[in-house]
Amino acid sequence: MTDGPTPAMRQYYAVKNRYPDAILFFRMGDFYETFGEDAGVVARELDITLTARGKDRNGDRMPLAGVPHHAADGYIARLVGKGYKVVICDQVEDPKTAKGIVKRDVTRVITPGTLIDSSMLGSAGARYLMAVAPDRKDTFGLAFLDVSTGEFFVSAGSGGCDYAEIISEAVRYRPSEAILPESFEGGLPRRFEAVGVTVSRYRDDAFDFDTAYERLCEQFGTATLDGYGCAGMAGAVAAAGAALCYAQETQQSPLPHITGLSTRVPSGNMVLDAITLRNLEITTGIRGEGDGSTLLAALDVTETPMGSRTMRSFLVGPLVRKAAIEERLDAVEWLLGRTVERQALRAALGDFADIERIAGRIAYGNAGPRDLATLKESLCAVPGVKALFPGEVPALVRETLDAMSDHASVTDLVGRAIVDDAPALARSGGMIREGFNAKLDELRHLATTGKDWIAEFQQQERERTGIKSLKVAYNRVFGYYIEVTKPNLHLVPPEYERRQTTANGERYTIPDLREKEALIATAEERLGALEVEIYAELVRTLAAEVPDLQATARAVGLLDVYSALAEVAARYGYSRPAIEESGRVVIRDGRHPVVERHLPVPFVPNDTELDAAGDQIMIITGANMAGKSTYMRAVALCCIMAQMGSFVPARHATIGIVDRVFTRVGAFDDLASGQSTFMVEMLELANILNNVTPQSLVILDEIGRGTSTLDGCAIARAVVEFLHGRASSGPRTLFATHFHDLIDLEGSQKRVKNFHFAVKDTGADVVFLRKIIPGATDRSYGVHVASLAGVPKKVTDRAMELLKEASARELPAGVRAPRYTQMLLVDPGEGAVAENPAVRELKDLNPDEMTPIEALNTLCRLQKMANGERGGR
Ligand code: ATP
Repeated sequence: MTDGPTPAMRQYYAVKNRYPDAILFFRMGDFYETFGEDAGVVARELDITLTARGKDRNGDRMPLAGVPHHAADGYIARLVGKGYKVVICDQVEDPKTAKGIVKRDVTRVITPGTLIDSSMLGSAGARYLMAVAPDRKDTFGLAFLDVSTGEFFVSAGSGGCDYAEIISEAVRYRPSEAILPESFEGGLPRRFEAVGVTVSRYRDDAFDFDTAYERLCEQFGTATLDGYGCAGMAGAVAAAGAALCYAQETQQSPLPHITGLSTRVPSGNMVLDAITLRNLEITTGIRGEGDGSTLLAALDVTETPMGSRTMRSFLVGPLVRKAAIEERLDAVEWLLGRTVERQALRAALGDFADIERIAGRIAYGNAGPRDLATLKESLCAVPGVKALFPGEVPALVRETLDAMSDHASVTDLVGRAIVDDAPALARSGGMIREGFNAKLDELRHLATTGKDWIAEFQQQERERTGIKSLKVAYNRVFGYYIEVTKPNLHLVPPEYERRQTTANGERYTIPDLREKEALIATAEERLGALEVEIYAELVRTLAAEVPDLQATARAVGLLDVYSALAEVAARYGYSRPAIEESGRVVIRDGRHPVVERHLPVPFVPNDTELDAAGDQIMIITGANMAGKSTYMRAVALCCIMAQMGSFVPARHATIGIVDRVFTRVGAFDDLASGQSTFMVEMLELANILNNVTPQSLVILDEIGRGTSTLDGCAIARAVVEFLHGRASSGPRTLFATHFHDLIDLEGSQKRVKNFHFAVKDTGADVVFLRKIIPGATDRSYGVHVASLAGVPKKVTDRAMELLKEASARELPAGVRAPRYTQMLLVDPGEGAVAENPAVRELKDLNPDEMTPIEALNTLCRLQKMANGERGGR
């Protein structure tokens, strides 16, 4: 007969059955244990020894891996960081007083999107939980919730988001986790995974509109949601309700710091899709986050974590309403003109900790004593900040100052309650200041006098027995005892009662010591319990202040960003852009805000003049390395900076508001290995051409380079013609190309203009002047760049020879011999390749159902088939 599971294991299985998809940390004494498959994962992921104990349900040895409870947070953070969900099951009654087996229950569920503990939250960046709820057929509403700060918003146009927009929003806000209804079918989870977002399924009823609506109203204490601007956005409301429900359930708390939500309609912001954010290195560089090459790194001289998060959200969602942009620019200009006040403000902001997250932890009930002390110190800086600007200030600065409260009641209460050098955790004790609570003071007195008594007792006993090394010490098993070393054992008086023998001597006690010990122990026990109680009450009192604390935190973040933008403008000589509701972009002496900081030589500024109804498309030719990419990106960054409310790196700039920036650049071609490059290029191009509007800005770098010259050139030409269109205006476009044939578009399309980068060719050497000038270039100087790169002289000399031969064979103007040709995939003239199986398969494809990688692989296979190569299938 096999023994059944122990009572503790029965408890374990009961909990585990409720959370089959999570790793269960089961508290046993001083350890959190994991069992079975969970233990395997924990051992592997955390590099912990896997052992075995007892029997599992099938009678096999039960794998086991445990971590000490005091170090659990670090281990949990690592697991959650790897995308696992962790459930904490604690002992919920005192083992000492428990009758029978100690009761255990789930106290926390930790998922990547709902982390809140300071020890587990890494950087200052926001940590969003994203929820996606079906709206109508094929469209969805989205909600984002940062549980650590209470920030909560929905995002969806009136028409809802499609797959591409969902992923764009995911890349923009970088959620740590996305939740989808359990019954949801379709390729969305794979797309989330492709951009590194963990997907969790959640029960369908949480996404029900009516339930969600009610839950949100109840949370915010309102009768309707009309005031939050999400009327008519059923999907977004359903998503918000589900996000809130998921957060409440995982945190096992009503989350009182989540007090409202805002609506970010994509039309309220410039749209920067995933590809553009990456290509322009707005928040993430080519070499990943924090590589210093991003626009964020160039602008983020904020002093506070709130400011840093606000800066990022400004950058990924520039504005499109002139009045709103001008308001921000007014605030920045005003601070720019007041150097002394600005420096004083920045110094004062430097004293602020992450009060937004501390407020979140107060609401949640897990703020530590040090958090409260830090909060108090930060809040003490508020009056100083407000006093810096006594007179008239721009509207947005006024708004932030008014939204900031000095929270006198909080600073006073925390000041009276918490000691100066407060411990991080409440359970360590010693955090409540003397004089705050009379009962606590009394117990403390008892405990300390008890300790004094022990010290005195030790002295007395030394004198009485003549044992100079006699010691009174304490351990948890025996309590207080008298320790005598071996050489002195002969001096021990008869009334000493032996309790333990150790390697070095003996331990004793006497009735007096036992009596005092009982008194001290109860005083200390009661002291600890009372202190924890007083502290919990204090945090509960502070929770009422959370909405106001959040308002202050957000205002601090905004003021920090305005002053940081002013600081950057002052340091690097930026100027205020003129904002227009027009189709123009006029830049005089524009620079690239990131490249200019890293050049060993001075950056050569350049002009730009684009007009949707005039010079709409710039075709930019020029030698390799001439500066084409840098120039085009600088123009795009200038528009983005202007619309986020920043000054711009130019002598002068007029920016006609851009609704969306599109980019297709070659720098990331290597993301897709080798042959798939062209498919990536075409996918990105298709996205641009399908979504571009006359108010957009389009940056195209080397379209068509991934295929044969003939195909590439044809595609590039057709794209320019498409963007030019037949209407009287179109998207402002910068198009850099090595296809020199394209320069004759200037003649055939009214709003196309040629430009090139000036080069000084001395015959022996080539000097890049980095200056853009009207007209097209006739040479590409590729061989020169090859020799700069260290290609052996033998090769570059031979290339020069071949070039000379080629120009001697001069072709008639406008005719260019293709180097190699490739069968066109679809014959414009019908017929010739219509029977090709590749075409047949192509017609049957459903691109909406494919991930980019699947699409890429399919295209490569089709290309091989079209070329008649084997293995196409
Ligand atoms: P390719 O055609 O080979 O892609 P490109 O014309 O796009 O080249 P960029 O990559 O923009 O050239 O620039 C090459 C280098 O020239 C940059 O890395 C930068 O160091 C320098 N550079 C570009 N623009 C300027 C400028 N305006 N002033 C000074 N240096 C510049």
